[in-house]
Amino acid sequence: MLPQGCLSSASPPGFPRSVAVIGAGAAGLVAARELRREGHRVVVFERLGQIGGTWVYDRKTESDPLGLDSSREIVHSSLYESLRTNLPREVMGFLDYPFVARSGEGRDPRRFPGHREVLRYLEDFARDFDLCGMIRLETEVLRVERNHFGRWTVRFRQAALGIGAGYSEEVYDGVVVCNGHYTEPRIAVIPGIDSWPGKQMHSHSYRVPEPFLDQVVVVIGSSASAVDISRDVLEFAKEVHVASRTQVGGAPVRQPGYDNFWVHSMIARAEEDGTVIFQDGSSVRADVILHCTGYKYHFPFLETEELVTVEDNRVGPLYKHVFLPSLAPWLSFVGLPWKVVPFPLCELQSKWVAAALSGRVNLPDEDEMMEDIKASYEEIEAAGWPKRYTHNLSDCQFQYDDWLAAQCGLPPVEEWRKQMYEAVWKNKRVNPETYRDEWDDDHLVAMARVDFDGQLT
Ligand code: FAD
Repeated sequence: MLPQGCLSSASPPGFPRSVAVIGAGAAGLVAARELRREGHRVVVFERLGQIGGTWVYDRKTESDPLGLDSSREIVHSSLYESLRTNLPREVMGFLDYPFVARSGEGRDPRRFPGHREVLRYLEDFARDFDLCGMIRLETEVLRVERNHFGRWTVRFRQAALGIGAGYSEEVYDGVVVCNGHYTEPRIAVIPGIDSWPGKQMHSHSYRVPEPFLDQVVVVIGSSASAVDISRDVLEFAKEVHVASRTQVGGAPVRQPGYDNFWVHSMIARAEEDGTVIFQDGSSVRADVILHCTGYKYHFPFLETEELVTVEDNRVGPLYKHVFLPSLAPWLSFVGLPWKVVPFPLCELQSKWVAAALSGRVNLPDEDEMMEDIKASYEEIEAAGWPKRYTHNLSDCQFQYDDWLAAQCGLPPVEEWRKQMYEAVWKNKRVNPETYRDEWDDDHLVAMARVDFDGQLT
């Protein structure tokens, strides 16, 4: 028998659509809500035993700390124990479900709360919008393929049935991919690393600083995780040396307030005696290299005859980071952009996908979408950016959000949210250690509260 929300492959096409959502993190949850609001029939497939995706902290780490062994058992989340959000809760929350401080046991009322509070927020969201009935936990999607009728066969395995139990298949009109992109490590290429005797790991497998007691640690990267993790490790390590692309030439810079914390240029090579040599000519004898070098997009279940490609971390060709022109609107991706505020962005992308699937919003024809993609690639090339920056929206994320909102007939993102994002970003750059507890944008917080009070009453 077919489950609720699923049509047989012989069902006539029409509205409402049956839609499979892959993943029940922030993107999958809000996609499910928007699809159902639009009237579609939705099934969410989630590999883990609970919702929340990235925000489900897992003490466990993978057998290969660099994440290179393709046969390893995957741990989804890349959170570390001490992680607090790098966005204030006012900015971070969904547009119509404010991330306000709630009272109650174990709640974290801070403006930049710890990771457990974000999970509680997502659980509140799922409960308040009654999403749980649509979600199948411990159900991993193994394969997604278009069938002869132009619909999607989704092959999945339910953990409860046991590994030997094989798989099941169902057919859907549309598929929305929300599988996250902070699980599959990218690591730095370092000449001489194969004979370097120290330990290497990726930030995906970093949890707590205690194992680094008295060690000399080299951290590669300058992302939010690199900044947080190097400070976390400092509490136990003997020395921390950050190799950063932003530090070009010159001598290593000792960080103010520390006598065991330096920032260097990138690594030039590693040697057999344990030495790590930086491009600035400085060197250290290190015990550990910690790669905080980001992640790769990875869609092992997607069987689209190479219509969707991942090339130097560019997922393409995608119209506005969401639709594959030749299969629009039947296959879509929610949550790919980075250097953004993810929750509201996913919310707006989801509204667009839901409306495109119902036909309430029209997409341009395939040629027009391809032209748009081509133009965006040319802009990236002209700016001298590598392909892997395709989904980096740091310079235009709110423009993008507002464009999505306009497609759906909605007003632009609130002005206070845009200004607060800028204010926090500047504060973070100047005060990387204190920005979560000291700020000077209370006037924007007050504006946000007025908005939230209006929504909550
Ligand atoms: P995820 O949360 O990763 O969810 C994807 C889901 O898909 C998972 O539950 C996974 O189990 C499931 N899945 C994957 N493959 C399959 C499959 N084959 N079958 C079934 N299910 C599958 N964002 C902020 O807004 N603020 C922050 O402060 C912040 N800090 C961050 C810190 C770190 C260290 C990291 C890694 C990310 C941070 N982010 C932050 C970004 C964060 O990832 C997003 O906020 C958001 O959680 C992304 O949601 P998602 O649903 O796209 O992906």
